[in-house]
Amino acid sequence: MHLTIFMLGSRDYPKLIQDKLTQIYSAGVKHKQLDSDTIDVAEAIQCNRLSYYERTEPENDALPQIIQRISKLGFRDAMGSKAAEYKVENLTLIVTPDLVFEKDFVVNIYPVSTIPDSLLPGDMLYTNACLFALDREVGVVVYVTPDGQQTQYFVGKSNRMFEQVVRRARILSILLGERKTPVIEPSQYCLNCKYNDRCFPQQKDNSPQLLEGLFGLGKK
Ligand code: SF4
Repeated sequence: MHLTIFMLGSRDYPKLIQDKLTQIYSAGVKHKQLDSDTIDVAEAIQCNRLSYYERTEPENDALPQIIQRISKLGFRDAMGSKAAEYKVENLTLIVTPDLVFEKDFVVNIYPVSTIPDSLLPGDMLYTNACLFALDREVGVVVYVTPDGQQTQYFVGKSNRMFEQVVRRARILSILLGERKTPVIEPSQYCLNCKYNDRCFPQQKDNSPQLLEGLFGLGKK
C-alpha cells in the first residue's frame, strides 16, 4: 500500500527521501574530511573495522539510522556542543561532549529505548576521553527514554581507560595510513552491522544433495 503511494508516477520517493537525508547528514559530519592522524574517539571505541569501512568504502545507512544521526547533530547544535581535541604525539583525538559546565564537569546525553541496568562501556570510555580533552574531573552520562524515564551515572577520570582509547585510535590511524583493513571484532553488534556481509560472507547451499550426503537420505 505504502509502496503504491510512494511510487506514484515514475519517481522513486523512498530513494529521493533517503538520498536527501544522506546529503543533509553528510554536510553535517566531518569524518570523511579527517586525515588518518585525526581520529574521532567514537571511531576508536567502536569496532575499528567498521570505522575503517566508514572512512574508506562507506555504505549508505538505512533511513532510521540516518534520521537518528541527524537528530543527534540537531541536538548537539541546540546544546551548542563543540568539538575538542587532545593531542598525543602525532595523533589527534576528537570528542564532542553534549554539555560542558565551566571549569566543572561534562555531560553526555543518550536517548535509549529502555534504561540500561548499568553504564554502557562505550559511553563510559567516550565520556572519560571528554574529561581528558577538556581537562575536567567528572563526567555525567544521562540515559533518557522516549516516555520520559531517565537515569544518570558518574564517570571519574581514569588514565587506564584513556590509554586503551588512545591505543585503539593509534591502531586505527596506522591502518588507515597504510590502507590495511582492521581485523574482525566479533560482537553482538555484528548482527545488525551494515558491513556484516563483508566480514561474514554467507555461503548458503540449499541443494538437497547436501542433506542427502549428510544424513544418507535418498539412499536405497
Ligand atoms: S560486522 Fe562486526 S566485525 Fe564487521 S565491521 Fe561490523 S561490527 Fe565490525
